[in-house]
Amino acid sequence: MLSTSLAGGKAAALGGPVAVQAGMVNLSYSGDVRPAHHNQTGQGAEDQRPATEATRFIVSLNEMRRVARQLKESGRQVGLVPTMGALHEGHLSLVRRARAECSATVVSIFVNPTQFGPGEDLAQYPRNLDRDLELLKPYKVDAVFAPQAEEMYPPGFETFVDPGGMARILEGAARPGHFRGVATVVLKLFNLVQPSVAYFGQKDFQQFLVIRKLVEDLNLAVELVLCPIIREPDGLAFSSRNAYLGPEDRRAACALYRSLAHAQELFAAGERDASKVREEMRRVLAAEPRVKPEYVALTDAQLRFVSRLDAGCVALVAARVGPARLIDNLILGPPTS
Ligand code: AMP
Repeated sequence: MLSTSLAGGKAAALGGPVAVQAGMVNLSYSGDVRPAHHNQTGQGAEDQRPATEATRFIVSLNEMRRVARQLKESGRQVGLVPTMGALHEGHLSLVRRARAECSATVVSIFVNPTQFGPGEDLAQYPRNLDRDLELLKPYKVDAVFAPQAEEMYPPGFETFVDPGGMARILEGAARPGHFRGVATVVLKLFNLVQPSVAYFGQKDFQQFLVIRKLVEDLNLAVELVLCPIIREPDGLAFSSRNAYLGPEDRRAACALYRSLAHAQELFAAGERDASKVREEMRRVLAAEPRVKPEYVALTDAQLRFVSRLDAGCVALVAARVGPARLIDNLILGPPTS
């Protein structure tokens, strides 16, 4: 299983939320994570704590503030799961984790326009709020916060978070301005929801590092939890953008995971030369003509490019497959022998 072991803070020692503290993340690999019904990531958490109240569906920012205040005053520790909706097993694993670890859970659903560049898929991005609410029903979360773009970014909005160097490589280089939009909306969500803990997926590993820096640099009082990547049985990471894939592209998209699994195999067999592993990953991707790689990278856990691989290094890929742009990554583990 792909696990995130953390150089714990107090919460970890107490068996509470496993918190990632800035600069203390220690990621280790021990396999792979399959869909939620096959794994341990909070499975059954929805049954562990009876909901005291019905889920509140909140659209207005003022209402969200009021509910956040209420939860705080009643002594509840709020776990926030920020999403863009079109929910899948990856999102639900975060919800399960928050439900299991926090005394109140808020799921936000907001397709954030400021993190999409011109010509990107903002207009096509899948939106199905009714289905999302159905999927969330069994988890009895305390609130679903689905604000309107017009209220989040009213006319005259002009203040943005400018994340540093971490936001300019890899995804940041491919999508200029993307992490500026992400950091801005995450800070706004933190201010509105006032979570004690926020849950993010390793699927967007660079995003997690950008947010961790945001929390550290701006002294935000929120703990961050990084959750493992949940995959389809054939290895493809769950993603809302998988909905763009026709059957042939869907089949071809597995090459991303195959390239990562191959990197892991080479690493486990003792290969430490990053450029050799990178070439091999490229070879796996090239065997699938429908896959157009954008980058293949090998980095350390802070996303610094490396020439020599160690356990905890990260293999990352981004590629276009038909109409979709997909990303995936894998944390290299210790050799098996
Ligand atoms: P999104 O709705 O794509 O913005 O994702 C919301 C959150 O879910 C982010 O923290 C993602 O990293 C996380 N997430 C997306 N896909 C997966 C996945 N396959 N496994 C685990 N977490 C995921």
